[in-house]
Amino acid sequence: MHELGLVTRVVETLRASAAEQGVTQVRKVHLVVGKRSGVSVPALRFAFEVLVGRGPGRSPQEDEQDTDVADRLLHGAELEVEEVPVRLSCGRCGLEATEDETGGEWPLVGSCPACGALDWRLLSGAEFVLDYYEGD
Ligand SMILES: [Zn+2]
Repeated sequence: MHELGLVTRVVETLRASAAEQGVTQVRKVHLVVGKRSGVSVPALRFAFEVLVGRGPGRSPQEDEQDTDVADRLLHGAELEVEEVPVRLSCGRCGLEATEDETGGEWPLVGSCPACGALDWRLLSGAEFVLDYYEGD
């Protein structure tokens, strides 16, 4: 599950940024995830819960006793995931299209409906970005 590694990196970035900005409690984290990024959103959410939320089997009392300041920073933060659809551009004529319009799923899409080329470039849909976060 490489989502755990991704979320670990997101959490490290948040901790560094929060320390810089004087943020002591992160409320919301907004990620942008492409439909063909290879990231499983349910696995991402699970990894986020494990890392910043109350891990499975932990009680609120245990969380209260947790003296790890870094964990408190992100505790209870809401994860928002914005899924980005796949958009492709024809390498010959420049036509822009979605996966559906090209007759399949990237990278096994059909030929360009305008010029017939099989030369698609991925414009969006492969991204994994920590877009922004909110906190106090
Ligand atoms: Zn074309």
